[in-house]
Amino acid sequence: MFKKILIANRGEIALRIICACKELGVRTVAIYSEADRHSLPVRFADEAICIGPPQLALSYLNIPAVISAAEIANVDAVHPGYGLLAENANFAEVCETSGIKFIGPRPEVTRLMGEKEKARAAMKKAGVPILPGSDGIVASEGEALEWARQVGFPVIVKASAGGGGRGMRIVSDEEELPALFQAAQSEAAGAFGNGDLYMEKYVEHPRHIEFQVLADEHGNVVSLGERECSIQRRHQKLLEESPSLQVTPELREQVGSVLCKSLAQVGYTNAGTVEFLMDRDRHLHFIEMNTRIQVEHPVTEMVTDVDLVKSQIMIAAGAQMKDVLHGPIERRGHAIECRINAEHPEKFTPSAGKITAFHPAGGTGIRVDTAAYAEGVIPPYYDSLIAKLIAYGRNRDEALSRMSRALDMFIVEGIYTTIPLHKRILADPEFREGKFDTGFIERFLKKNGGRD
Ligand code: ADP
Repeated sequence: MFKKILIANRGEIALRIICACKELGVRTVAIYSEADRHSLPVRFADEAICIGPPQLALSYLNIPAVISAAEIANVDAVHPGYGLLAENANFAEVCETSGIKFIGPRPEVTRLMGEKEKARAAMKKAGVPILPGSDGIVASEGEALEWARQVGFPVIVKASAGGGGRGMRIVSDEEELPALFQAAQSEAAGAFGNGDLYMEKYVEHPRHIEFQVLADEHGNVVSLGERECSIQRRHQKLLEESPSLQVTPELREQVGSVLCKSLAQVGYTNAGTVEFLMDRDRHLHFIEMNTRIQVEHPVTEMVTDVDLVKSQIMIAAGAQMKDVLHGPIERRGHAIECRINAEHPEKFTPSAGKITAFHPAGGTGIRVDTAAYAEGVIPPYYDSLIAKLIAYGRNRDEALSRMSRALDMFIVEGIYTTIPLHKRILADPEFREGKFDTGFIERFLKKNGGRD
């Protein structure tokens, strides 16, 4: 096992990784920007190193600064968390050449999955069903139009380097195509420094269903089942649950076994998530793979009793899957996660500032992953996620009632949060009956006067 790990992240996920390390008896090194000097990861890690000013490019995304910290602290490994450098193959490569283990897949696999149209081709070759799509990059509007005519509208234009729902446009007819193609291209170029676009058939009223996998470095891959993440706003997830009401045990088994084979074929290692869209006939189509731990991993942990972050660390240290899991994966009960973002309720913009009162919910079946605390400051520079509220129950109804009472008992004052929005989603009859798709929030906001 590693002796010391550097956590190349901040906020709740940095704290989550510290928890896993403490349980494994591994020492931790937190890195922080000047804006995070008083943060809980800094307080709870064994060592902490300031790596620069608040701006992301100068601190958490500054590879030389992160590597220098790892070298100064003399760590064996780096855990990147999610976001930031987690899917940066160059960073993984620099870790490797510096003799530091990167907790994640090998750089070439991260690179393959990071170029979404290449990932589609690799998964197709390995036998995973994908949506009808362009063969690689679509270079021009003319090419896009030709392809869209062949498969039929609506289509979706997507950024090859995409993430977080950016660089994506739904095109419903020919006239719309040129303007939307250009908009996607400039958004992608601005956000990712890469304007490459590819296209897919647009699935109407889809559900977003993703599978969690773990792969050791000895060729063993396991599937831990699915999460449903259809409750999204602007293609960004707000609420996730496991299991999905749409996935039967047979479908779970079938997709799981296809994924295990195909990921072994591409040489995948460590934790990963394979994302699918489910159409109205309940067919699943691959859209992308995330080569890291995900925000919503706790719902899988609650229903499988597998600690995914500890598993990641053990796998990176060379453990065999049988020693990571201690037996077959059994699923029980139901878990739901609400993402609590610091966000203005009408403008949907980040709401930074000082938290004046903070009382996380607790009690049976409730888990809160957060690095927020009373009198703490939410800096304006970073992601707006400040807490994840997770409810577990023997079935969906019990999980829902625990979530409702926990939302009522969760106090955050001084900044705006998405707690009121979640309360209203949970009260919605269609949501409660499980009748939703990725368009749910848009319809819900219209029905409720367009406001959160
Ligand atoms: P990102 O990496 O930016 O998150 P994804 O490819 O994972 O992009 O897609 C994010 C969301 O966008 C999906 O969950 C879904 O709601 C919507 N989406 C993506 N592709 C399609 C498609 N072909 N048809 C319908 N919706 C789509």
